[in-house]
Amino acid sequence: MKYVLVTGGVVSGLGKGVTASSIGVILKACGLRVTSIKIDPYLNTDAGTMSPFEHGEVFVLDDGGEVDLDLGNYERFLDITLTRDNNITTGKIYQAVINKERRGDYLGKTVQVVPHITDAIQEWIERVAMIPVDGKEGPADVCVIELGGTIGDIESMPFIEALCQFSYRVGSNNFCLIHVSLVPVLNVVGEQKTKPTQHSVRGLRGLGLTPNILACRSTKPLEGNVKEKLSQFCHVPAGNIITLYDVSNIWHIPLLLRDQKAHEAILKSLNLLGIAREPNLTEWTARTELCDLLYDPVRIAMVGKYTGLSDSYLSVLKAVLHASVACRRKLHIDWVPAGDLEDTTAKEAPDVHKAAWDILKGADGVIVPGGFGDRGVEGKILAAKYARENKVPFLGICLGMQIAVIEFARSVLGLHDANSTEFNPETTNPCVIFMPEGSKTHMGATMRLGSRRTYFRVTDCKSAKLYGNVSFVDERHRHRYEVNPDMVSQLENAGLLFVGSDEGGRRMEIAELPGHPYFVGVQFHPEFKSRPGKPSALFLGLIAAACGQLDVVLQYYGHIRKLMTRKTGMSNGHGMVKTHQNGNTEKPSNGCLNCVYSNGNGVHL
Ligand code: GLN
Repeated sequence: MKYVLVTGGVVSGLGKGVTASSIGVILKACGLRVTSIKIDPYLNTDAGTMSPFEHGEVFVLDDGGEVDLDLGNYERFLDITLTRDNNITTGKIYQAVINKERRGDYLGKTVQVVPHITDAIQEWIERVAMIPVDGKEGPADVCVIELGGTIGDIESMPFIEALCQFSYRVGSNNFCLIHVSLVPVLNVVGEQKTKPTQHSVRGLRGLGLTPNILACRSTKPLEGNVKEKLSQFCHVPAGNIITLYDVSNIWHIPLLLRDQKAHEAILKSLNLLGIAREPNLTEWTARTELCDLLYDPVRIAMVGKYTGLSDSYLSVLKAVLHASVACRRKLHIDWVPAGDLEDTTAKEAPDVHKAAWDILKGADGVIVPGGFGDRGVEGKILAAKYARENKVPFLGICLGMQIAVIEFARSVLGLHDANSTEFNPETTNPCVIFMPEGSKTHMGATMRLGSRRTYFRVTDCKSAKLYGNVSFVDERHRHRYEVNPDMVSQLENAGLLFVGSDEGGRRMEIAELPGHPYFVGVQFHPEFKSRPGKPSALFLGLIAAACGQLDVVLQYYGHIRKLMTRKTGMSNGHGMVKTHQNGNTEKPSNGCLNCVYSNGNGVHL
């Protein structure tokens, strides 16, 4: 196993995560298999309890791990499936060491940061690096490790010490350190300043780590003399100093790295030059260039609670972007703070209320993403009502599906106090209720997390077609509340169809409104499995409907299905429905075979 460590200096927010993912992309393009680990030096055991306001979204993995959003970048850029252990936190390491101490594993010794914590970190890295993440057997060739925070932070000290020992242990040919730093330009003189980077590298060296490569964030490419200066003071060859200058979209970063031959510097330091091929980024380049050329807009209103920090909905934004590129549209996100749509805002701040409604009314499609807590819920319900009544394409995700059901129960069934027991435990019409998957007596760990299977109850519906006429899909979940099974038939009789459910048929997973151009609610989070070039089916449906292309897209899937039927003899390995002469359908029993057309859910563009 070869390791690439990515550290950051000078300031936080340099885009270290995207840089580390992009390094993974070029190494993968060189024919290597790549995995990744993110180290977060905070004390929380995982990101599950952290506010999206502060840290951005909580990313959810197949195994139910609630992790840092950078793991989402890795999964999207590298098209891999990570595990919860690929996110190391101080909390996890200390918990493991303290558990060992309680078991008596340290045989009476004093348990200390060095060697016990530092050993635990190294063991964790070595163990997790071996887990295959790309669907193939056996470990990857290279593990990219991103150390969160900035060099010099007190929190990251045990990790730095562990990584120093680790680099020595695995040997210099198996360990490459890339330090991401900042080269600011002072407006007065317009000169690229190297001092912050010099200091940061000095700090790194003082802690025992020597960078092989410097990746410098700057507004423009670094001047030759600036590189020379950095090389001299930081003891890094000028050829190993890469500039990450400002680009129009983040897909350019792997291309920047390739153009500056970062892959050669990395491969050389890892002694892999003879094994790897020249990077093949043809598809990646085409998509990046296409994205820059898009002109015709598609306007999507995001009606949410955390609209002040776009990272709070990072995966949703990426999923809409992937779908917009597939539909050849330039994406415009219009943020609508849900609370601003409410009647109380109309009284207190009429201008704010009007502005929010104007934005919503100007949108081609509406998304109500997931969320917790009752703030803004009534505003989200109003947005769903607007989209339903005015036939505006709508996608409700998790809480977004729940509020769409509440709205339908109130407006169509006339159940005026219909609500989720999360927001009104006393409601006489609880159309969304607490349905723990495990214990009914314990509140802790009752969240339904990670990949669960949804079976289509109705096959002739938009969602099933968008997923490629599969009979089931595996998507990721993060919720406690669900549509009340006792009210399903009432809702269905009034026209809201639950086209997908769990195997037992009690947990409703997908709701659809027939007769509406596109009104879909899902209890799961399809955004977590969307990839550049492989957009998530339901986001594709939303964007296609928003720009009047849904019929074409649905026909396209019908065509793909026919092709697959011819090629594979009925099943595509994702649970494609076999239709018999008599019209009955049958679910195939085999699991996912990773067919060439699909992203694991039957979608491939
Ligand atoms: N708060 C809702 C629940 O727990 C929705 C959660 C979500 O949107 N992720 O079910």
